[in-house]
Amino acid sequence: HAKDTGRNNYQFYESRLSRLVSTRLALENRLRRALAHQEFELYYQPQVDIASGDFIGVEAMLRWRDPDEGLVDPATFIPVAEDSGLIVPIGAWVLSTACAQAEAWRREHLLDVPIAVNLSARQFDEDSLLDTVAEVLRDTGLPANRLELELTESLIMRNPELTAEVLDAAKRLGVMIGVDDFGTGYSSLAYLKRFPIDRLKIDRSFIADIAFEPDDAAIAETIVAMAHTLRIQVLAEGVETVTQLRMLRSWHCDAYQGYLCSHPLPAADMNALLRGLRAARLYGLPDVGHA
Ligand code: C2E
Ligand code: MG
Ligand code: MG
Ligand code: MG
Repeated sequence: HAKDTGRNNYQFYESRLSRLVSTRLALENRLRRALAHQEFELYYQPQVDIASGDFIGVEAMLRWRDPDEGLVDPATFIPVAEDSGLIVPIGAWVLSTACAQAEAWRREHLLDVPIAVNLSARQFDEDSLLDTVAEVLRDTGLPANRLELELTESLIMRNPELTAEVLDAAKRLGVMIGVDDFGTGYSSLAYLKRFPIDRLKIDRSFIADIAFEPDDAAIAETIVAMAHTLRIQVLAEGVETVTQLRMLRSWHCDAYQGYLCSHPLPAADMNALLRGLRAARLYGLPDVGHA
């Protein structure tokens, strides 16, 4: 009996494993096809200055419109894209599409702020990363200081020497550098100061409960204060409520991103939003404060 059970278990695991492998291979093939068939899209989420309410940046978020399954989130496909190396050509597409969009907004006088693009470890390991960036800037006409590269804290800490080299070279190009998901790794702010960082983004998990958890509030407030001591700007991720925003403002946090202002929007919706804001700027209501 024991032997039978053992064999059954073995067969069970074997078939589950082969199913996993074939699902993964199938996904990889679908991603390859998606790139060729232009099934990727970028969504855009505003980054808001907490003191003024102005948009000070926009982050590009990758989406996959799968013909069978509809819109697919990055959490589902980016790990596979990374393991297979496909993230390198996909990431190059993201860079050029995001920069072209940002330059179009500038030309139409809709918005002239940095576009933030997420980078993965695999892209970072390519010797050609900065050549790709420089080429995209040249091709799109976007000024270098209107592009911000977002690297996660764990990506930076994975190979600090290589990171320092690449980031120094990126700064020579003139692009901005942001640290994404700060707080989820194990680095200290003092250590991060070795890298040419313009901005720190506090991970959503630290912001989520600041209104209810005094410890989370204390951590977030301390990150803001310490970053400012080091002359690094701070953005809070995942802000969903006015209470959170008020707390962040009382700590002098510079900027936020989150559903409170806007979900990530398809390009057409972001264009409509920006046109509305431009109209308000040009023909807007009289300034009540001075009326
Ligand atoms: P991230 O860069 O930290 O992006 C923030 C994520 O939080 C986004 O999820 C965004 O939609 C979501 N978010 C924004 N505001 C709120 C909020 O108020 N509440 C909540 N609950 N969520 C909020 P998304 O778009 O699913 O992206 C997930 C991750 O996938 C990103 O995290 C980023 O690490 C990665 N990613 C996205 N686009 C790209 C890309 O083009 N290349 C690479 N390599 N990674 C990307
Ligand atoms: Mg990001
Ligand atoms: Mg983040
Ligand atoms: Mg995050």
